[in-house]
Amino acid sequence: MTRVLIVGASLGALRTAEALRDQGFGASITIVGAEPHLPYDRPPLSKTVMTGASRLEGTALPLRRDLEVDWRLGRTAVSLDLQRRLVALADGVELPFDGLVLATGARARIPGSWAGVCGVHVLRGLDDARELRAALRDRPRRVAVLGAGFIGSEIAASIRALDVPVTLLDAATLPLEAAVGEQVAQYVAVQHRAHGVDLRTESRVAELELRNGALVGLRLADGTLIDADLAVVGFGVTPNTEWLEDSGLVLGDGIVCDAQLRTRTGAGPLPGVVAVADVARWPHPLAAGATVRIEHWSNAMTHGALAAHTLLHDLGVETTHSPARDIVPSFWTDLYATKILAVGLPALATASTVLSGSFEDGHGVVGYGRDGRLVGAVAINDPRSLAPYRRLLAAGSAWPPEPTTGANAPATSRSNEPRHYAEEQS
Ligand SMILES: Cc1cc2nc3c(=O)[nH]c(=O)nc-3n(C[C@H](O)[C@H](O)[C@H](O)COP(=O)(O)OP(=O)(O)OC[C@H]3O[C@@H](n4cnc5c(N)ncnc54)[C@H](O)[C@@H]3O)c2cc1C
Repeated sequence: MTRVLIVGASLGALRTAEALRDQGFGASITIVGAEPHLPYDRPPLSKTVMTGASRLEGTALPLRRDLEVDWRLGRTAVSLDLQRRLVALADGVELPFDGLVLATGARARIPGSWAGVCGVHVLRGLDDARELRAALRDRPRRVAVLGAGFIGSEIAASIRALDVPVTLLDAATLPLEAAVGEQVAQYVAVQHRAHGVDLRTESRVAELELRNGALVGLRLADGTLIDADLAVVGFGVTPNTEWLEDSGLVLGDGIVCDAQLRTRTGAGPLPGVVAVADVARWPHPLAAGATVRIEHWSNAMTHGALAAHTLLHDLGVETTHSPARDIVPSFWTDLYATKILAVGLPALATASTVLSGSFEDGHGVVGYGRDGRLVGAVAINDPRSLAPYRRLLAAGSAWPPEPTTGANAPATSRSNEPRHYAEEQS
């Protein structure tokens, strides 16, 4: 019997298992996950779970009855033997496979000497959210959020909802600038300040100030002391690939794949071994042949369907299914009352312009271009106006795009968007 093994038991793993069943795979699926939890949704962690506004248990992702997965939770994969087609776990157990899905995602980045310091947190998983929530319940004097990217900005906004003082620090000149460019970043900076965040850009933290082993402040590179008895580090993520270092797979800030998500060794593409979601680095059409790693919720869905199809093809399992070709990434974030929705890959852009609306009035769409092609669009409080740009991105539209209006746009298919977001918008 054909055996599929999935390593990593989160969103990417679940979406791939679902797609395997949808595409007619009836044999054995085993999912190994280092965390003790069944798959759960991470986006609510930084929005409502860490503040106590929603329950930790509410993040559990629904499990379909027809999945019939052999779950191995709280078990960590430590090596991959491609010749013997075995994955070894930390407890010495070896799991054989015919087809392998690598879905080990990423972990929060933190300077080594800061990890474990009393008062210093990261937010990647349910257990991190539980700890942060408990720390916030103790009413810290002032929280410092380090890194004003998507996660750092969301964390700062969520903590302000508790009326706790927040300092948000970033080395860049504006929050989110690298991800969404100046127009949206300016808007976000204004929102943070309007909600009482002490936003300090072009600020680098040099060291932690500790008293009796606990955090009391942060020393910046210019000598400034920032008061804080709680810090949340939002320095981005590191893909979980160390356990694959001796496997022969090609790695490089993720697991390098072809356009079908098939992994490779030095000898070329490796049939029957695919990677998905946050850990996969693949050539996206919008990146003009370059490989990208996309850390978005909706990407796990796209990858699940594509990887399942590739795997079944490689294993010689018959399937009539062809995966959806909707490979335009999308991402959303909630900051205060502002909803930001992005399509495409705005971070790749070398040019951007406001396409509609007015940021002074609190809504609008910005378009992003590179090498004469549209590569992304971001809507502030105006998700419906994004629908035509999504279609233009899928069609490989030129930059700048033809003017278009939200009113004329057909409704976007939301099948890729998470339940809570889609519900809020309808
Ligand atoms: C706080 C937060 C908020 C977010 N908000 C948004 C949002 O608003 N919008 C959006 O689009 N995206 C958001 N995301 C991103 C989204 O959640 C991720 O893209 C998604 O979780 C990726 O899923 P994944 O399965 O690739 O990896 P992960 O969710 O990282 O899961 C990987 C799993 O693999 C396990 N693992 C790792 N190594 C091993 C090993 N060796 N053996 C066994 N198991 C292993 C890990 O423990 C983990 O459980 C957010 C993420 C976070 C953390």
